[in-house]
Amino acid sequence: MKAAIPFTTSSGHHYFYSCHNKQFLLSHPLLNYFIRLAKNDEQWKDILEKASDKRPIKVPGLGKVKNDEFHFYLRKYRFLKKHGFFKPGALKNRDGIIPPNRIEQNLAQTKQIIFETTEDCNLDCVYCTYSKFYFNKNRERKNIDTADAFKLLDLILGKHRLNPDQELTVSFYGGEPLKNFSFIEQVVNHVKKHKSSILKVKYSMTTNGLLLKKYINYLVENNFELAISLDGDELANSFRVLKTNRKPSFELVSRNIDMVREKYPSFFNQRITFLTVRHSRNSLKSIYEHFSAKYGKTPIMSSITTTGVVDEFREEFNKTFIKNRFPASENNCYIHELFTKHPMVSETAEVFERFGSFVFRKPRQLLNPQKESRDNKKYLPTATCSPFDLRIYMSADGGIYPCEHISRIFELGAVRGLKVEINPDKITGTYNTYFNKIKKLCKQCYLSDNCKECIFNTAVETGIPRCEFFMNKQRFSSHITQIFNYLEEDQQLFARIRDEAFLAK
Ligand code: SF4
Ligand code: SF4
Repeated sequence: MKAAIPFTTSSGHHYFYSCHNKQFLLSHPLLNYFIRLAKNDEQWKDILEKASDKRPIKVPGLGKVKNDEFHFYLRKYRFLKKHGFFKPGALKNRDGIIPPNRIEQNLAQTKQIIFETTEDCNLDCVYCTYSKFYFNKNRERKNIDTADAFKLLDLILGKHRLNPDQELTVSFYGGEPLKNFSFIEQVVNHVKKHKSSILKVKYSMTTNGLLLKKYINYLVENNFELAISLDGDELANSFRVLKTNRKPSFELVSRNIDMVREKYPSFFNQRITFLTVRHSRNSLKSIYEHFSAKYGKTPIMSSITTTGVVDEFREEFNKTFIKNRFPASENNCYIHELFTKHPMVSETAEVFERFGSFVFRKPRQLLNPQKESRDNKKYLPTATCSPFDLRIYMSADGGIYPCEHISRIFELGAVRGLKVEINPDKITGTYNTYFNKIKKLCKQCYLSDNCKECIFNTAVETGIPRCEFFMNKQRFSSHITQIFNYLEEDQQLFARIRDEAFLAK
């Protein structure tokens, strides 16, 4: 169980976090001293004996303290204690499991179906998850089987027919999806012909932008949402090289983007986003400056995948991509400009929402915050999505996965030879076995109320899951101290987060 956590910022202000009351309070060194003393009966006895006369008291770490002052904060400590501020915090119950009937429900309301249109790609990015650095099946530049893909698509369209209020996004992923354009065309025609008249279907694609010149008219006609992968300026993008000659792709891609912008300005403004991987050759600063100056946009940023790296190449991987990836100087770089897209702002807003008690998303939370914060619900360990609730992903070789981001070792089903194999018992059995393996760790984690980690990133398949975000009391204390350091340095930021960040979520 988690007790109160005292902490001090670099400008010398003292606070404590009450895990039980979910409150951050301004504190005093003496109050924090009493909190740290907690259940050490010997030291309490000793200090109370010293305080029994009127003389100043020597407090370890604080020097001599006036007797009045000592007793004032002792009374305050006792008052807060009486009102539960130092009681252990109730943990969310992490014994949740996924029942087999959830799979059917999720398939009937999934929001996105994603096809790995082809394994083929015209780039050979150095950090690609199919490069030498990662464990992965050999790729054969295989195109997805259209008939098998239609099988899965029909299954989803059929289930959505019963649920007409839903919207469905049909997405194309790769490799480079435009290398198999005829599949995209066939899927779009198939959907137009077979979807129920009331179902709204949207199309989206993640592309490297190299073939945009050839296919942009079609993509505009069908109102695709395009996510173009680009890591920033020429240097930042230099890991993304052409397959044919290993030369940089930056010029070619930039030229294509300029062409789209000139020919279809409103499509460019409304339907195009950029995806940027953060690595050793770019920074928040260079990314923000490049995209805002050139396109008036802020990209969606992600980190290079660090799971599934082969031991043999780990050192080279770290040296090439990880070194200097998140320098401390970046912490408040363009923080007001990027605002909710800045990792620090979203982290701070989340900490206040999950660990504070002043963000209310439902009226009943406001009416009875104590009760609402300690519900009886059983939560799943980790922050893994329920399988197929958000999306279903079909790989080019027919495998079915909950999304495109996880390793191929976690295949949940398949569509091969026109046979769809989705076995709810088997799928939920796998998930629940994994949850069972990690829940001991999650139950000890101070971050569990704000967990963002997916079970498939925790090496759970080895039987010994580990989590790079796990926080013990000390790490959690450093984490909240760092957040308060920023807020003290930039008080305007606190006001903006309070007034704007929660509404933006
Ligand atoms: S990474 Fe994990 S939590 Fe995220 S969508 Fe994929 S399966 Fe779900
Ligand atoms: S951060 Fe990691 S250890 Fe903590 S709750 Fe999430 S998955 Fe579990």
